[in-house]
Amino acid sequence: MSREYIILEVTIIAARVLIELIFFAIGASIFSFLNVIIYRLPRKIQFTLGKSMCTSCHHELATKDLIPIISWISLKGKCRYCGEKISARYTIVESLGGISAVVSTLIFGIKPMAALVFLISAVLVTVVYIIYDKLKQK
Ligand SMILES: [Zn+2]
Repeated sequence: MSREYIILEVTIIAARVLIELIFFAIGASIFSFLNVIIYRLPRKIQFTLGKSMCTSCHHELATKDLIPIISWISLKGKCRYCGEKISARYTIVESLGGISAVVSTLIFGIKPMAALVFLISAVLVTVVYIIYDKLKQK
């Protein structure tokens, strides 16, 4: 194996890892929006309007509080304003989105089938969490 070949291989692997990191971030961001739908849809709150807020103190969240996974970890799972615990489920849902995006593109490549599988996982996660919340209220 020539030195050039090894450098080429390493570059291809690095590019692939970078692409998958981008897919993870996109998937986590999309599922972050699903958290909004899961919370607001059953409560009949319009989810296209209004900024995100703390469910305890109702303080409007800043952009730095809305970075999927990273904000929750950096705040140690607590609200920046009232210190109340923020459920880990938001980060879990965001992580599921990232994992779903990476797994579907690894299996199907960057093709419409990967997008379809990702979309199905998004619908399933939304429906399961809404039903779970409904059952928990009873
Ligand atoms: Zn708060």
